[in-house]
Amino acid sequence: MRGRLVVGNWKSNGSLASNQVLLERAKQEAAQLTGVSCGVCVPYPYLAQTQQALAGSVVLWGAQDVSQYGAGAYTGAVAAAMLLDFGCRYVIVGHSERRTLFGESDALVATKFEAALQAKLTPILCVGESLQERESGVTENVVARQLTAVIERTGADAVAGAVVAYEPVWAIGTGRNATPEQAQAAHAFIRSSVAARGTGASGMTILYGGSVKAANAAALFAMPDIDGGLIGGASLLADEFMAICRAAQR
Ligand code: PEP
Repeated sequence: MRGRLVVGNWKSNGSLASNQVLLERAKQEAAQLTGVSCGVCVPYPYLAQTQQALAGSVVLWGAQDVSQYGAGAYTGAVAAAMLLDFGCRYVIVGHSERRTLFGESDALVATKFEAALQAKLTPILCVGESLQERESGVTENVVARQLTAVIERTGADAVAGAVVAYEPVWAIGTGRNATPEQAQAAHAFIRSSVAARGTGASGMTILYGGSVKAANAAALFAMPDIDGGLIGGASLLADEFMAICRAAQR
């Protein structure tokens, strides 16, 4: 049976004071959970604080983006090896906000995924369709295109060994989540697409992201191909985030 995973994506939010409250709660309460791992992906400047607060706890942490380059003359970029220096396990790549607001192409996302893997980080690869794409019936084409760019660069087994997050763009930060059935259909498609090109997809962790809250988490996590969640807004509220983590327990 696949393990469950719930990861908070703080986006560009936080302060030293508010982070400390979230990190302490996660540290204390995650220790009581069974069958689920919890993590937080924080803004770069808070990685040192996160590492210090979570050291020795069961909570894992990571960043929300990574450079496609290594160390060198790349002003403003953060190399994967730097994330390792701060104890990161995870890095989100290809979040829809990076794709749409920062113009990241499928090809760039694939190079970032590869850079993360080479540094022995676990990439959390985000894929998902816009509302217009869903309404035009091309959800699977879009998700397949996003996956294929990465598979062609690193191979399907590397994707199966990472984490994929299905995040329909129309559900992110909108309060409108995909129904459990819609999410399950997309997750099953992702698993079978990766399985068709390599081995190991049966063990692949596929998270759902898009307006997950304590109130809808259990129904989503009950679906056979939903292995947990990538949580944006609700991860900034300790009660909500911990309730979502509890809902993912086996
Ligand atoms: C996200 O940012 O990955 C996300 C899923 O956001 P929200 O939970 O706020 O929809």
